[in-house]
Amino acid sequence: MTHKSTMFAIIAGCLVTGWMLQPVMAGKGNGNGKGGGAVTIPVVTEDEAVDLLFMREEEKLARDVYITMYALWGNRVFDNISQAEQKHDDAVFSLIEKYGLTDPALAGIGNFTNSELQELYDALIAKGEVSVLEALKVGALIEEVDIEDIVLSMERTDKVDILNVYGNLLAGSENHLVAFVKNIESLTGTTYEAQYISQEEVDAIQGR
Ligand code: ZN
Ligand code: ZN
Repeated sequence: MTHKSTMFAIIAGCLVTGWMLQPVMAGKGNGNGKGGGAVTIPVVTEDEAVDLLFMREEEKLARDVYITMYALWGNRVFDNISQAEQKHDDAVFSLIEKYGLTDPALAGIGNFTNSELQELYDALIAKGEVSVLEALKVGALIEEVDIEDIVLSMERTDKVDILNVYGNLLAGSENHLVAFVKNIESLTGTTYEAQYISQEEVDAIQGR
């Protein structure tokens, strides 16, 4: 078994506990009761499905913006973080496959099924093209929005495998916000102002 990352190790761990059972396979095992009536097949709720599909494209949006901003400005922070976003996106994709959902992700950079995310992407690119400072602020904004969306998604599921992935995404987003804020503050020489979540939350994440 290959372990590309902690996240994949967590997913592999869930596999062992039987979460990966597909309906077909579940049907012929698990004969723990007479008549085999109670076979539990892992299914997501509508909320969980909506969140996973949105998160898949939200992580792709982050990746695509950072790839584009790195090409424009050459700032290493975009390159490093875009690679982390690829891993986040892969982890969400694994859950989408596991639960038999239809993957919304489109090939190529800057293409999205969700029209809201498509508009957001276009707006963020336009803003990030203005200057490297604006590009870094776009990065921080994306991470703030991600943090909020991940926390809300975590409140709408009790599945351990999904919570594990979201937990990794959240930790990643917090690290990324710290990195962008550090870059912004060293450029401006002033304290970063929160753009989406509360200043208190941003400050707590910065450890201040
Ligand atoms: Zn991410
Ligand atoms: Zn991130």
